[in-house]
Amino acid sequence: MVRLRSVTRTGSDDLRARVHFCAETGQIWLHEHRMLLVHAEAQASLRKELIDTLGMDRAHGLLTRMGYASGVRDAELARIRAQESSDLDAFMTGPQLHTLEGIVRVTPIRLELDRVAGKFYGEFLWENSWEGQWHRHFYGIHGAPVCWTQIGYACGYSSAFMGRPILYKEVECVGMGHNNCRIIGKPMEEWDDFAEYQHFFSRESIADQLFDLQNQVAQLRSTIGAKEKLPADMVGDSPSFRAAYALLKQAANTRIGVLLLGETGVGKELFARCLHDMGPRRDAPFIAINCAAIPHDLMESELFGVEKGAYTGALVSRPGRFERADRGTLFLDEIGDLPLAAQGKLLRVLQEGELERLGDAKTRRIDVRVVAATNHDLRQLVGEGRLRADLYYRLNAWQIEIPPLRQRKEDVRLLAKRFLEKYSAIHGKKLRGFSDKAKRALLDYPWPGNIRELQNIVERGVILAPTGTSIEVDHLFSSCTGEQPREFGLDTNGALGIDRPEGAQRLCDAVLDGALTLDQLEATLIESAVDKAHGNLSSAARMLGLSRPQLAYRLKRLHEGEPAGPEAVLTRPEVPPA
Ligand SMILES: [Zn+2]
Repeated sequence: MVRLRSVTRTGSDDLRARVHFCAETGQIWLHEHRMLLVHAEAQASLRKELIDTLGMDRAHGLLTRMGYASGVRDAELARIRAQESSDLDAFMTGPQLHTLEGIVRVTPIRLELDRVAGKFYGEFLWENSWEGQWHRHFYGIHGAPVCWTQIGYACGYSSAFMGRPILYKEVECVGMGHNNCRIIGKPMEEWDDFAEYQHFFSRESIADQLFDLQNQVAQLRSTIGAKEKLPADMVGDSPSFRAAYALLKQAANTRIGVLLLGETGVGKELFARCLHDMGPRRDAPFIAINCAAIPHDLMESELFGVEKGAYTGALVSRPGRFERADRGTLFLDEIGDLPLAAQGKLLRVLQEGELERLGDAKTRRIDVRVVAATNHDLRQLVGEGRLRADLYYRLNAWQIEIPPLRQRKEDVRLLAKRFLEKYSAIHGKKLRGFSDKAKRALLDYPWPGNIRELQNIVERGVILAPTGTSIEVDHLFSSCTGEQPREFGLDTNGALGIDRPEGAQRLCDAVLDGALTLDQLEATLIESAVDKAHGNLSSAARMLGLSRPQLAYRLKRLHEGEPAGPEAVLTRPEVPPA
């Protein structure tokens, strides 16, 4: 059992560093969770209205569960920290976050825990309780503790951290007239009267059931509703994807030659397979071949088959892909890479429905639907003489363009969810989905490798994320990928500062080491701004966040070589406009 005395307080600095304000996107992040900076008074009004409409008891349950949910969220961060620090230090994440989030100042009085043995005892002092103070403001002194959301938080946090139900009670509360609140937490069954408290949490399961039912209804609706259900692997809701799928479906029951266009990784083979599965050939084979992956001199034997002795090394007779796909579908990917000799033979199969194996005089009848795909401009290949025009027109009877993923961003979430389910099952992992920040990163990324890249990245995330947690940005992308919006963090005094990029840190080090004076740094900065603005002082001033007269003053001083006192540099003296 570890005890409180080993707890260090250094962790709270590290937590402050995890708060980021992103002014550009209007988002605040705590680690990977999106947070809100709300008015305490507005929140208190909402709480009051809940009490006034639902009654004390129901509001009590509702608010407890709300706190419980945010406690569970914060425990995720604690569990991550537990990988690098002691259980006790990691546990203190919760009290520190509760303080940082502005809810209540938490000071541990006694804390003993053993995650393996499931032992837990926690006693904390709560000062400046947001909830208790507002409750007292609206309702006066209450006969029982009132910090319901906060108790819910403590229960949710500790239960998730310990992996077993921990129940807290307020033994003192400002809402009851005490100076501060004090709470004690123990495993649920160690409280004699735990049954009386259970109902505050048990409705959560009813809520879960309702959500489950709601989901089931939504799923049922989607199967019978106006929106048609897609085959299992075809995932997408965007108009461009739906349009491509509609074209595919129209072609499925015909014999028309289909040409699939699209960038690498958009899922051309999936479309071809879907076409096959939707049509009358679904019980016959679907054979795929990538023309770019097969050496030119082997292409003909690969496609049309070979008779024993046709060439040195042809030791046995074997059928080609066409014969193997008889009565089914042959998918020719990267059709632009098909050698000219093979193009002639292919055209004959398409026109006459017959072929001869290499080194064989016998003609074989064949019934194959050909679906071709490319990411090249075939018309251009025709112009360059690399693709037969007659073959092009034959293949291009029904053209379907599959949109790149960046043009169907609304499908990223659906696809990511599908791949998450798939790879969680494959790797036997239970994960809590994507963090808010990871979701945003998935949407912001331009996906040059399209769906295949998304699939690989989600699989990487599933492998890297620890069981029981959410997939975070770092699990998906290595830090060099993608441009993140600029964020402002909290400095050690709790003030909003600007996160220093690496280069800025080097500059600071240079000044602090004496390699560069503050004046030199200022001169360099001003000169490069003026350079960048091509001598336009107004726009240079804007870049520096100065007024034009302020910049003019500094330039004048630089040119006069007047030594500037440190104060002058730091306080940006105001000079009346010239
Ligand atoms: Zn209280």
